[in-house]
Amino acid sequence: MKIYDFIVVGAGSAGAAVAHRLSANPRHEVLLLEAGSRTHFWERIPIGFAKLLKNPSANWLYESEPEPGADGRRLPVPRGKLLGGSSSINGMAFVRGQAQDFDTWAQMGNRGWSYDDVLPFFKRMENYTTKEGDDGFRGRCGPLHVTNPGLTDPLLGAVVEAAGQVGIPHNSDYNGATQDGIAMSQATILGRRRMSTAACYIQPARKRANLRIETKAHAECLILEGKRCVGVRYRVRGARREAFAGRDVVVSGGSINSPQLLELSGIGQAERLQGLGIEVNHHLPGVGENLRDHFAPRTRWLVGAKGYTLNERGRGLSLVHQTLRYLLGRPSMMAAVAAPLRAFVRSRDGLDSPDALLGWVPMLSEMRPHGPVLSRESGMTCYAHAMRPESTGYVHVTCADHREAPAIQFNFLSVRADEDITVAAVNIARSIMRAPAMGRLQLTELGPGEDLESRDEILDWVRRTAETTYHPVGTCKMGNDAMAVVSNELKVHGIEGLRVADASIMPTLVSGNTNAPSIMIGERAAGWILGDA
Ligand SMILES: Cc1cc2nc3c(=O)[nH]c(=O)nc-3n(C[C@H](O)[C@H](O)[C@H](O)COP(=O)(O)OP(=O)(O)OC[C@H]3O[C@@H](n4cnc5c(N)ncnc54)[C@H](O)[C@@H]3O)c2cc1C
Repeated sequence: MKIYDFIVVGAGSAGAAVAHRLSANPRHEVLLLEAGSRTHFWERIPIGFAKLLKNPSANWLYESEPEPGADGRRLPVPRGKLLGGSSSINGMAFVRGQAQDFDTWAQMGNRGWSYDDVLPFFKRMENYTTKEGDDGFRGRCGPLHVTNPGLTDPLLGAVVEAAGQVGIPHNSDYNGATQDGIAMSQATILGRRRMSTAACYIQPARKRANLRIETKAHAECLILEGKRCVGVRYRVRGARREAFAGRDVVVSGGSINSPQLLELSGIGQAERLQGLGIEVNHHLPGVGENLRDHFAPRTRWLVGAKGYTLNERGRGLSLVHQTLRYLLGRPSMMAAVAAPLRAFVRSRDGLDSPDALLGWVPMLSEMRPHGPVLSRESGMTCYAHAMRPESTGYVHVTCADHREAPAIQFNFLSVRADEDITVAAVNIARSIMRAPAMGRLQLTELGPGEDLESRDEILDWVRRTAETTYHPVGTCKMGNDAMAVVSNELKVHGIEGLRVADASIMPTLVSGNTNAPSIMIGERAAGWILGDA
């Protein structure tokens, strides 16, 4: 029986970074288990984002319980299921969050997580290719390629000008000294290719003799001896296997699957687990609680002026032209980030930093059972949401079978502040789209619709139409309180030899998208494990 030093469960944003760093030392024997497959045809092509959103061969395709705050709708919860995890199917926007996000975590008692503490890890992980970036904030030598596409699109240029007219300035690097303002989205795209953690962390480590990667390997539970985790039981194409770790098992299954795996292993709320016939190994009431995500209505606009939107470029001969450009390595809509323009804004005066995010997509699309398709009309979309919502929900298993999806409940808009910021964000998006610079585009507001003006009308529209931005976090919260699951060093409270490292450890949502902070968490975890703080 082979005993590894470390077993990492889940090769996603965080898990790939953990496995890469731990296996850099040839003396460490590392096993990386991934439930999904090695790759998918659409994974490396940025436009493949749309093709993978509803694709069962690369996506867990979870769904929420009926959401009271979303008019009783079940909301889709896509999660990557392949090497690279959600970084292999995501929208590729690269946003770290604000310094205050991490300072808040530190103030909650998590030593080593202030912005000053995590900045070296953000720098270590990236290779930022834009010359203008301030080296005090940006890394140039890390494995993850991050690019800044610059502003060339006339439609998005008009939005930047309009934002300036309502007092929102341009920011050349929202991952630098300050987040405020409007900017083109920085992207995990290099040339024509998506830069997932599969491409940037796993690929370069693949030939290491001390790193074993097993795909289609679904962990069904952890192996515990008393209060120590010694290994993982998993299935590969139906066959049951066990692997053992001399030092640590690191669970990096993401915010839905990590609490699921802990609960299936008897770590969680004792009464709940007993009720499902799961033997309780350790009562830890916070497992699966504190679920948070961004709940974003999409404002929609018809664009009357010709030649501006992807609805036109994505059809007929224009599509052939875009495809040829892509194949020749020229700029093309096929190689673009999902939401190429974003603004970090304040919902009211007197705030220290932005609390709402607007993201523009230069097209209208409609969701079909197999994924989004371009609408027939030409237009653009702007999603708008609170960045640090306070509404919380949960993820819990409903039976002892690892193949069954857990119950996911977000409880969106259950806190008044989340409602207020969402309504304000929608109105800020409208004020930009109604500014003089947008006049030449001949816009017509489709959603919410010009006749909906009051707070209640807008909220009602939000509840009927908003979706998540696919950023679930918080279900194995880091901290010291009774509901915390892991310590500041990401060790599971009360269990030896077990850590969680992924988006689930975030105690609060960061101000932005969650891929960059998830990878940073993987880097930080490896730092703690290697004593490399
Ligand atoms: C459609 C979509 C669009 C997004 N767009 C953006 C964006 O533009 N920018 C951004 O910053 N963020 C975006 N995100 C969010 C971001 O990608 C995630 O927050 C981040 O990737 C989470 O990293 P993670 O390590 O926590 O989990 P994941 O990356 O999801 O990794 C978890 C891995 O564990 C594996 N796994 C789970 N359970 C098991 C098990 N039992 N056994 C073995 N393996 C298991 C999974 O298959 C997966 O590979 C998006 C996410 C999605 C889904």
